[in-house]
Amino acid sequence: MVGTGKFFVGGNWKCNGTKESITKLVSDLNSAKLESDVDVVVAPPFVYLDLVKNSLTHRIDISSQNSWVGKGGAFTGEISVEQLKDIGAKWVILGHSERRHVIGEDDQFIGKKAAYALSEGLGVIACIGELLEEREAGKTFDVCYKQLKAFADAVPSWDNIVIAYEPVWAIGTGKVATPQQAQEVHVAVRDWLKNNVSAEVASKTRIIYGGSVNGGNSAELAKQEDIDGFLVGGASLKGPEFATIVNSVT
Ligand code: PGA
Repeated sequence: MVGTGKFFVGGNWKCNGTKESITKLVSDLNSAKLESDVDVVVAPPFVYLDLVKNSLTHRIDISSQNSWVGKGGAFTGEISVEQLKDIGAKWVILGHSERRHVIGEDDQFIGKKAAYALSEGLGVIACIGELLEEREAGKTFDVCYKQLKAFADAVPSWDNIVIAYEPVWAIGTGKVATPQQAQEVHVAVRDWLKNNVSAEVASKTRIIYGGSVNGGNSAELAKQEDIDGFLVGGASLKGPEFATIVNSVT
């Protein structure tokens, strides 16, 4: 990474864990040595947010994995931004490929969620990324630009947004993007911000990579000029390995 701000590493625990395994994971994180100059965030399942928030001893922020698109009320099964703030969450992951492709959320809905979360003071980890067939058809940049535009059209400011580039073919597959593949898209994302938002936003916004990041490949990826951190799924469920990834900042 080169001077975009602090390295940012998020652990996306997805729909994993029990009270017992999560207590163990938090205890492993508490005893790990973490580089102090890194923003570290973990996103536990909703029902464990409070438990994790109250038992972490490191300066690790809490993120939600989703949030409702507007003010809370009669929306069965949803969690509001106000409730997330109430338990001390600082971030929300929006536009994750599992929400896009498994649950069916579209660009506009995701953009609205981002705008609402930001308006209430939550930071947004805004995920973008192409499917394998889109990459093979040479559409990687177009897909990322379209997803970025939906965020840009909806949000009033980029001050509290981290962009996560997560190629869908790399998520949970063990098939990590090469440092060059990731760097190429990160540069394209930064150029898009420069041309469509502002040079200032392009230079300040952190662009993190996600998709099969682990303790063995994070250091090489972190050397790339435009990789400002990681969003980690599977490997974030192992405290010592997550600590290795946090500490891979160069
Ligand atoms: P993975 O998931 O690290 O297990 O590939 C990343 C993500 O979905 O954020």
